[in-house]
Amino acid sequence: MTRPENMQSLIHVSYDMGGKMKNIPSVSTSCKNNPFCAARYGDGMSKKDFMASIERGEHPLICKRCFAMMALSYKLGLIKNLNENSDVLANRLLDTEELFKLAFELTEASELNNSPLLRLESFGDIANETQATNYIKLSFAVTVLSGGNIRIAWWTKNWRILVNAWRETDEVIRKHLRESLNIVLSSPHIGIEVSEEDVRWVESELGMPVTVFTVDGKESERTNCGARDCFGCQRCYTKKAETEYVYEVVK
Ligand code: SF4
Repeated sequence: MTRPENMQSLIHVSYDMGGKMKNIPSVSTSCKNNPFCAARYGDGMSKKDFMASIERGEHPLICKRCFAMMALSYKLGLIKNLNENSDVLANRLLDTEELFKLAFELTEASELNNSPLLRLESFGDIANETQATNYIKLSFAVTVLSGGNIRIAWWTKNWRILVNAWRETDEVIRKHLRESLNIVLSSPHIGIEVSEEDVRWVESELGMPVTVFTVDGKESERTNCGARDCFGCQRCYTKKAETEYVYEVVK
């Protein structure tokens, strides 16, 4: 993606992610600084052990083979940027000027690249309600500045934190976000969707349907994510009238 010139905000935006994220900007923090991510990852698992566990019919935590934990072992520029994002986003609320500067940068990038999509969290997750509130306010600022033209997908395994922050959000903001923001509940275990009870609870709290994203051990009839090109697909960025279930195959 082309990065807007002279518009560097306090928060770093990833414009150059490859693979399925090509042409989609992302605002993210580091999983290494997130206690929930660190607990799920533990000591990680080798690919051999991970695949053997799946072959035995087990359902290991997807985080045991977290691509971000691996990428953040050697990509020095990325480590620095994500650490700085974590330091700010999880520790204090952005002020209005900071929020709108970032939203303006994202809106400019969207126009420059003809990309109507934005992803929140691709290398980590929300760590606390401060970070969740920053994302809610950023989503609102982006929605206002883009006239609702940017569709935002926010991936999380920490939906209880998100709901707590949402409860504290003004209804005017929540109403706007129900049109532009898609929450993607990321299932923690291979082959097992987020529980029906949790999905219904989140949807009733947010007042909108969510997407449930699950990684399966093998391809099957329910596989509906090719994991190649989110820009071409846009399924996770598109608002639906009811819960959408997405299934990707482990890589
Ligand atoms: S379903 Fe589409 S938008 Fe969602 S992760 Fe897969 S390729 Fe990307």
